[in-house]
Amino acid sequence: MKILGGVSASPGISEGIVCLYLSETEKLLPHYSVSSEQVPKELNRLREAFDAAKQAMERMIRVAETQFDREAAEIFNTHLSILSDDDLFTKISELIKAKKVNAEHAVSDVFEEYVKKYEDKGEHFKELIHDFVDARNRILNAFNVETGRFKCPIGERQPVIVATRILTPSMVMNIPRESVLAFITEEGGLTSHATILARSYGVPIILGIEVEKNLDCGMHAIADGSSGRIIVSPDKKTRERYRQKIDKLEKRKGFCEVKRSLSARTGEGRRIQLKLNINTPGEIEAAGEFPHDGVGLLRTEFLFAGDTVPSEEEQYNMYRSILDGVPKRPVTVRLLDIGTDKLPLYIEAPRQVNPDLGLRGAIAVETFPEIYLTQVRALLRANVNSNLRVLYPMVSDLGDLKTFREILAGARKSLREEHIEFNDEDISEGIMIETPSAVMMAEELLEEVDFISIGSNDLLQYTVAAARGNLLVEKRYHILHPALVKLLEIVIRAGKKAKKEVCLCGEIASFEEFYPLFLQVGLRCFSVAVFKFPDIKCELLHLQTFRDKSVVTDFYKNKSKEEIDSYFMSRA
Ligand code: PEP
Ligand code: MG
Repeated sequence: MKILGGVSASPGISEGIVCLYLSETEKLLPHYSVSSEQVPKELNRLREAFDAAKQAMERMIRVAETQFDREAAEIFNTHLSILSDDDLFTKISELIKAKKVNAEHAVSDVFEEYVKKYEDKGEHFKELIHDFVDARNRILNAFNVETGRFKCPIGERQPVIVATRILTPSMVMNIPRESVLAFITEEGGLTSHATILARSYGVPIILGIEVEKNLDCGMHAIADGSSGRIIVSPDKKTRERYRQKIDKLEKRKGFCEVKRSLSARTGEGRRIQLKLNINTPGEIEAAGEFPHDGVGLLRTEFLFAGDTVPSEEEQYNMYRSILDGVPKRPVTVRLLDIGTDKLPLYIEAPRQVNPDLGLRGAIAVETFPEIYLTQVRALLRANVNSNLRVLYPMVSDLGDLKTFREILAGARKSLREEHIEFNDEDISEGIMIETPSAVMMAEELLEEVDFISIGSNDLLQYTVAAARGNLLVEKRYHILHPALVKLLEIVIRAGKKAKKEVCLCGEIASFEEFYPLFLQVGLRCFSVAVFKFPDIKCELLHLQTFRDKSVVTDFYKNKSKEEIDSYFMSRA
């Protein structure tokens, strides 16, 4: 038995056979030179392939509209616009003429160039990369190049756990719902287009697993989408435990459905703040009638993911739609969090010795003050319902806080001077606690701010010196490291002393089984992705945790990652 830890992108539990889905095209791609006389023929083939790809995409959009929803159709509209880009077509044609190569090869080279460009820009562009890969595959399909298939025939015959390096929207559409027990991927984000589509299948989705290294066709596995784990070759005891868990989940569902409109509370009736982590205005709509306590974290990086810096007006409109979407509930907007994993396309970061410990937080504000000034001006103007709370990322000490505050003061001053209308009331200010330094300074920082959000994703990486997303050190990046829990305890104590809100908004808040521990160490506020909200609320409703005082002491008795994993598995 082997347990692989990834990131949960959709809950649920499935047990079955793993089947790899191959998406690589390179080995199959024809590559040959053509003579000057053959160039017009290649250009013709290219034109025909583009036309066929566009038609195929239009068909896909119609299918998406009927079988999925408008959002799915929108995803394929993005691909259609890539295929309709004249510059792209011209670039490929020019390459055929200059290098005298076959059309398929030129297509692959030009797309590769686009993909490279976005890869260098970091994590947030993965989404766009997948869109490019999908659009490219559509063209290659028109040349009869196969771009995706199951590695073993079992995938064609029975429902399987589909494991693949990358998942693109077209792949999701090409694999029928009834063939999928779960999706496991190496790359891909929680909000990537493919993930959004795959989520509509209602099966577990787990991201961040080194698929080819760890999995192969025919392996027996359990995909636990709730905890983001895959249990390969589970032993009898584990299988039995999971079967019981599936039964329990089924029974719970009915109970939670009845309490759907009730705000989050524990089984004993103790009220818990449960908020949403969102990236785009669409997610507020998706949260619909959820009885949430507002937005705990709006990651504004996604709004900066285009080709150019969004203007003040564009930002104003985006913030308005989010703030107006929940006018009576607080919306916590984090100022742009620039870092190695999040670098907008148009930002040229200065050369740095160790970028993972470089440009971030207050240093980013000092490096690009205009960007931050524009963002805060747009936010102040959009705060017509007085429900805005600003959150400063990666604040490590009082000096960092001062830098952010100067931007806030500067934005107010410039708006006043320009006689631009805005809500001039005081705004709640908070900081992200994401470094051990911030933890140790929590009391002092809380004297200055109104609330704290714990960013456990970063806090963990800076505590155990293991970069998030770096598979080489994944073992050390242990999602619930005891050192992290000890740090949480320090921050919670500081929050209690100051009587100010401490909210947990990192990825660990998405794991139901950690909640008895979270509540016991004193956390009363959590912020989770929209799709996790119902599960976490349901878990809280079932917890009688205040009677169970042994959770924390038992937890600290575990000495290794493996012991901690099995401790939580046994409680699940
Ligand atoms: C975190 O670090 O836990 C966090 C919520 O911020 P992000 O994941 O956007 O870095
Ligand atoms: Mg962070």
